[in-house]
This record gives sequence, structure tokens and C-alpha cells, in this order.
Amino acid sequence: MPHAVDPSRAAQHGGAVLRLVDEIFPLVEGFYVDLHKNPELSHREFRTASAVAEWLRNAGFEVTTGVGGTGVVGVLRNGDGPTVMLRADMDALPVEEKTGLPYASTARGTDEDGNDVPVMHACGHDVHTACLVGTADLLASSRGYWSGTLLVVAQPAEETIDGAAAMLQDGLYTRFGRPDVVLAQHVGPQPAGMVSHRPGIILAATATLRIRVFGTGGHASQPHTTVDPVLIAANIVSRVQGVISREVSPGEMAVATVGVLRAGTKANIIPDDAYLEINTRSLNPAVADRLIASISRVVRAEAEASGAPREPEIEVVQQVGVTDNDPEQTAGVAQAHRAYFGDDYVIELPEPFTGSEDVGVFGLPGDPDPVPYVYWFVGGTPYDVWQAAPGETPYEKLAGVPGNHSPFFAPEREATLRSGLAALTVGALAYLAKEEDAAPVITPTGGQAPLEADPTGAQAPMGPGRIPPTEGVPAPPEPAPYPEPDPYAEPARPDPASTQHADMESLLGDEPEPEEGRRWDAPPPPSADPFAQPPQGPAFPEGAPPPPPPQGPPVAAPPPQGPPVSAPPPTDPPSGEPYPVDPPEDPPHRY
Ligand SMILES: [Zn+2]
Ligand SMILES: [Zn+2]
Repeated sequence: MPHAVDPSRAAQHGGAVLRLVDEIFPLVEGFYVDLHKNPELSHREFRTASAVAEWLRNAGFEVTTGVGGTGVVGVLRNGDGPTVMLRADMDALPVEEKTGLPYASTARGTDEDGNDVPVMHACGHDVHTACLVGTADLLASSRGYWSGTLLVVAQPAEETIDGAAAMLQDGLYTRFGRPDVVLAQHVGPQPAGMVSHRPGIILAATATLRIRVFGTGGHASQPHTTVDPVLIAANIVSRVQGVISREVSPGEMAVATVGVLRAGTKANIIPDDAYLEINTRSLNPAVADRLIASISRVVRAEAEASGAPREPEIEVVQQVGVTDNDPEQTAGVAQAHRAYFGDDYVIELPEPFTGSEDVGVFGLPGDPDPVPYVYWFVGGTPYDVWQAAPGETPYEKLAGVPGNHSPFFAPEREATLRSGLAALTVGALAYLAKEEDAAPVITPTGGQAPLEADPTGAQAPMGPGRIPPTEGVPAPPEPAPYPEPDPYAEPARPDPASTQHADMESLLGDEPEPEEGRRWDAPPPPSADPFAQPPQGPAFPEGAPPPPPPQGPPVAAPPPQGPPVSAPPPTDPPSGEPYPVDPPEDPPHRY
């Protein structure tokens, strides 16, 4: 059954395909640093989209840009087999970066209200995009190992949760083919390199209500001649929590947060109106609908109770359902990841996070024939930072390290990118890898290689040499030999080690790397990240210490295979024209 997930084939071929990682890795790392320095806000991912398109074209994909705004689609047909869609999001956030990294963003952009704001990849979408192009390149370079169609999708506007819908409305599936499965990943504050799966619901549904209530303004000394909208708004703020505590079953998760409350200009004036934005989260579609209906009822009733001269305006925006992983497909991909990374690096989350995503829109929820999807997390917190974080349980530690949307969010570069690249590639091969024994069998190493196995000799930040022995983590097995030369082999580059860090030096300039731990000196601020909400109960397998980051099978002597790895997109396109930084015209106002 060609469309079934087959973890064993993925692990078998993954080892062979991922031997290319060390060849491609400096390019992916350079691409990541470039994206990190040049983040772009939602709907304005012009430079990023150009860079992705150029990389995919160089790798041999048919590329279409401008899908659903700035979305990029790459198609690679490679014989019979399933169509696997790999999705990454490209947008950044209006956050001022405070990581102290040598490649920290100093970029600024214009938000939807026309304000000049700092911009940072504070949610790590640069990790996702770099891993997407890297995986696309790895698979394009190893076509002999797999068969089927790759649909590579770089999505705009995840943070405004309307990018996926925009791509579908622009004909993503009708123009480029409907996938048999969608795979996507997100970097999170878990230990760097750890892969976290959850069959079923992994992220919450959300909606934002924009509310304006109307009163009758007047002099502060004459309230009896007015209808005070500030009092109406204040009552709404309190009363909405009654929806949570009195109208939702105690067994259900529900959140309502009034994130915006604006009214008035001066203490001695009663204003005409007040404005609120209320955000909801839930794990059950019925609860999601109930929250919107009940909050709307409370708003109307409070306005009427005060004798408001007009009905309130209520608009539901940024609404998306739960992210609901297909259980069977998730089990298969997780098994493939375990076979490749080792059991200690792949966990199953016991509870969903209360954050939200629009990746589930690609699954066509509500459609009689939905598309299954598998969405997982890749950890990004450096091992020593994780170890030093306060708290006993993993969830206590999660709250103590910089998380997504924090100005201090700084995924450990090499460990995160390597595991993201491998996780996405192995995931794709779980569907696409050939059934026949086309490649040498690679024994998974459990993610740990002896330091001397590093062909570059470089002290990579994730190298096991700097990680103290951890009780409970199995000793690294012997590196697996690569018994057969690869049929698609081309001669090795003369000295890969000599180019390993060349790109990084030019990208990072003369700035020294910060001393270890320096960028963490500042205490992490209270995180605005919904992922940081500590759910009840244990998160990680009992007694399992956070393992060091995985490295994948060590690279042995065989040379890299396949056609030459495509070059990273240059800073400027070949024409010499700068990437378009500003949109030709303002995109439609979206919220
Ligand atoms: Zn985010
Ligand atoms: Zn995100």
C-alpha cells in the first residue's frame, strides 16, 4: 500500500539520504542566519519568499510564487507514489530582539496599522523555512531513494492565522495537486533537538473578537446625563470570566483573555465609546463556538443593561480550529523518528499546548474527505540553559526558559537546524522511500556519535563532547558502517571541513560569539507565549532526563551523493536588483 506510512523504510533510507546533511548543512545554516537577520512581518514576506523560490528552483523544483499572497509552492515529481506536502511558515513578529546573538535582527517594518515596529523571528519560523528548503534539497539530491511527488509549501502569515486559508483559496490543491499527507513542524522551548509528537489534538482552537460598545459621552461631573461606555466595558471584562467558570464544563479547557481595552482621552471626560479585543482558546469545537456565542451575548446584554444608545459592534477575526493530528499517521511518523533519532529524543506530549496554528486548515477540516496531517515540535533550548532553568518538572522548566514570542527566544542554531532537517526528511521518507532495498541499511545510532567521528573536527555547539554524561541515557553505540557505495554517488568535494564554516564567518562578520551563557544573563521576562502555560501533570516520560540533542548517524567516509547541492540564495538576486522589500501596494487590511 504505497500511501501508508512505513517507519522502517524511512529509517533505512533516512540514514543514507541524511549522509548528505553535512554537505548541505553550512548552506542551510547560512540561509537561516540570513533569514534571522532579515525577518518580515505577516503578509510582507517578500524577500523571504524570493529566497525560498530561488533555492527551490536551483534544487530542480517547479516553482510558483505569489500563491495566496507571498506563498511559494515547489513541486518535484519523481515517479509513482504518494504526494507528500511539506509546509513551513515564513513570517516574523513585531518584537524587538534582545538575544544578543551576533546575527540578532535589527530590522524594522510597518505593521497593519501603519506603525514603524521592530521585527524579529521570535517564533522561529526562520528555523522552519531553513529546514524546509534544506529538506527539499536533500530529497531532490537523492531521488534514487524515493518515489512520488513532493509538494513544498512556504506559507505566509501564520501569525495572523490566515495564510493557509489564503493559499487554499488561491487554488493550492487544485493547481498543484491534493496531497495524501501534510507534514509540518514548529520549533519550541523544549530541549534542543528533542522531537515531540502528539496524536490527536496538539494545539488549541482560537478566535479573536473585536468589540466596540457605544455610550453617550459628557462631563465627568455629570454622569447622570451620560451612558458611560467605560463601565459597560469594565462589566464585560468581569462578566466574560463567568462564561468560563459557569458555562463551560469543568472538564473542558477554555480561556478568554481581554487583551485590549481602550476608552477615553482625559479624566474629566466620559467618552462616547470603548473598544475591546477578546481572545479565546479551547480544545473542543463545540466549546469554541460556545465561547463566541456567550461572549457576544454578554456584550449585547451589558450594553442593554446600561441603556446604550446603539447595539455594540462585534466582529470575529483570526479564527481557527484545533490542530488535530491524524492518530495513525502521527504514530507512524513518530515511530520513524524514534527509529532514526533513538527513543530518548522523541517523546509523546501527554497534553495539548494552548497555542494555536493554522496548519490544520490544510487538512480541510469539515470536508468529507479531509487530508491527514502530522505536526510536531522540535526543541530549541540549549542543553545547558535547559539544565540551569529553575524547576523540577519539564513543564516548570519550560516556563523558565525563553519561549516563542519572547525577545530572548534563541534556538540553539546547529542542534535545532540539524534535528529539524532530519525530522522533516525522515518524515517525508516514511511515505516516499522506495520499498525495494535500494540503499544500504543504516543502523540508527541513537543520536550520539563519538566526537572523533566528526569529520570536520569542529567543536560544534551540539557536539557530545560538551555534554556531561547523563544518567539514564544509553551509551552511544558504535557508528554504523556504510557497507555499499551509493549508486548515485559523485566524487566527494576535496575537503568538506575547509568550507564548513566559511559561510558563517562571512555572515557573522567579525563579531565574536558571545561568551557561553552571556545572552542568558538577563532573566527571561514573563513570557507572552501561550506555549509557556504550564499544563497540569507530567509532560515527559517519568524519570527520563532531558537528553542531549541528537546528531543522527555519524557521517562516515562515503562521499556525498547525488547532484551537487544547490548554492544558497545570494544576498542579492543575480540581476543585481535588490529583493523587493516593500510591497508594490499595501496588501488588503487583514487582522
Ligand atoms: Zn508564533
Ligand atoms: Zn509560530
